[in-house]
Amino acid sequence: MLGNEMPSSEITKKRKEFVVMIDPGHGGSDTGTPGTRRYKTTEKDIALDVSLALGKKLAKLPNVKVIYTRTKDTYPTLNQRAVMTNKKKADLFISIHCNAQPGKNGKKFGSTAYGAETFVLGLSNNKTNLEVAKRENSVIFLEDNYEEVYEGFDPNSPESLISLIILQEEYLDQSIEIASYIQKEFKVTAKRRDRGVKQAGFWVLSKTYMPSVLVELGFLTHRKEEDFLNSKRGKKIMTQSLYNAVKKYIDLHSKSITIITENDIDTNDLEIEVDNTETKASKIYKGVTFKVQLSASSKKIATKPYNFKGLDQISREKSGNIFRYFYGETSDYEEIKRFKEVAKRKGYTDCYVVAFKNGKKVPLREVLN
Ligand SMILES: [Zn+2]
Repeated sequence: MLGNEMPSSEITKKRKEFVVMIDPGHGGSDTGTPGTRRYKTTEKDIALDVSLALGKKLAKLPNVKVIYTRTKDTYPTLNQRAVMTNKKKADLFISIHCNAQPGKNGKKFGSTAYGAETFVLGLSNNKTNLEVAKRENSVIFLEDNYEEVYEGFDPNSPESLISLIILQEEYLDQSIEIASYIQKEFKVTAKRRDRGVKQAGFWVLSKTYMPSVLVELGFLTHRKEEDFLNSKRGKKIMTQSLYNAVKKYIDLHSKSITIITENDIDTNDLEIEVDNTETKASKIYKGVTFKVQLSASSKKIATKPYNFKGLDQISREKSGNIFRYFYGETSDYEEIKRFKEVAKRKGYTDCYVVAFKNGKKVPLREVLN
């Protein structure tokens, strides 16, 4: 025994488990799109194959836990999927689907559209995006008591989600981030036509409280794309692309937790998250402005305390169609960490520190190194 030569406590850092919820779209009696009907398989089968293959690969990563809303040909309702995901405290929600082009002149489907796209929740005035959301939401009609469960939501009018969309806005930035990694992989690794990151009112995305995306792997109403997505090679390439994107996201977002082992206590180790609020030190970075990002939104909100859970010193910045909202402003990194703790206690649990140099956002890691 080393006895009193031991320090009274030891601090080690380890990565917190990152939970990915994979949601294979449709299932059971809800087949999803049948595509051109040249195949026995439909959207639900391809979604399940790719989902399980993706999960299998991700589960091999250290500190990553994969869960699914379904692993067989069953149909959990959209509401059950969302409830399940929230209960498991997933860090990321990925719903996997295949697309169908609505037909013109009374025809059920068209056959010219192709390519992969990824959706995040939002309001859309774009007709094509609305059609996709309508189709994916329409499974709600298959449920007997849908009016009760979906609280007046009309699958034919995704705009009726508006009140729910506000709840997801806190995660919009990160949802767009993972969506753009996915689209980049689809384009570069899978060589698919990149239809881009889009926003529309998907019910299942509106009820999950974490960054959430809905992936449309491609159009089963397009012969060539349907052949590709039904082939072993096609599924493998799409799986690999999704894996690369999710892995990149996890690498950048997995949180580390600090474990303080009290040697005086011979029972279990204590696991606590470090609280920086007591630190009085300051660490000034000249020419750098730190802020705490609270949320991102497609809506312009007044920077008043009543809109931000009582916080003052709120600033707003517009980039593209998105407004970002920040709390605090300082060149002192220690100080901004205290701001962050305050914001967290106010309920902005996913807020994070961002850095600006000459008015431009720069990666925090770059500044701190
Ligand atoms: Zn679908």
